[in-house]
Amino acid sequence: PDVIAVVPAAGIGSRMQTECPKQYLHIGDKTILEHAVASLMAHPRVGQVIVALSPKDTYFSSLPLAAHPRVTVVTGGKQRADSVLAGLQAAGNAQWVLVHDAARPCLHQDDLKNLLAITATSRVGGILAAPVRDTMKRGEPGKGLIAHTVDREDLWHALTPQLFPLELLRSCLLRALDEGATITDEASALEYCGFHPELISARADNIKVTRPEDLALAAFYLTRLTQ
Ligand code: C5P
Repeated sequence: PDVIAVVPAAGIGSRMQTECPKQYLHIGDKTILEHAVASLMAHPRVGQVIVALSPKDTYFSSLPLAAHPRVTVVTGGKQRADSVLAGLQAAGNAQWVLVHDAARPCLHQDDLKNLLAITATSRVGGILAAPVRDTMKRGEPGKGLIAHTVDREDLWHALTPQLFPLELLRSCLLRALDEGATITDEASALEYCGFHPELISARADNIKVTRPEDLALAAFYLTRLTQ
């Protein structure tokens, strides 16, 4: 395997309104995190999967995944980017790194295959993304009024996994964090440093479980994935 994977799972998921962090909610016989990790390990090019956990995590150690020989655990940080950097620290000398949200259990193997295929031609990497379908409005800050409509042509939802040359991602994350840039996904760190990762058009059912109603939707999509 020439690719390692980092799964930032150190968030507390306050929007789910559950006591248990969202990545530890069950769908069928597995947690959301276990579905997410299993989808990465299903590809033969993916070696180790590094999971970044909160120092206060009390859930992970009781999962069967904790004993998996291809799973490594690191302690995550204050922001998502810190957690990813902690994961990269444990990555050894792999050339490429996939970063995948712990809260995305419905990754389809066709999309993972399409993303990994860019290593043959790209030096910058890329992300799974889905074209925006709704009409998009920019609001007046704090007023609940429409300021204007944002042209949705060329507007995409950024999904994960995101795939980058390991050393490039590390240096871009370090610089972006150091300079206080706003980083909500890994691609934003590369963009901040002037790179233009590829957009790989992907299925929109690769959702991030964020709100309570997302759980039933993810469960439905998962039954279709395994058919
Ligand atoms: O909060 P949000 O859904 O954007 O989090 C995305 C991912 O980043 C989640 O999988 C979460 O566990 C992870 N995260 C992290 N370390 C943090 C904050 C979030 O690993 N400090």
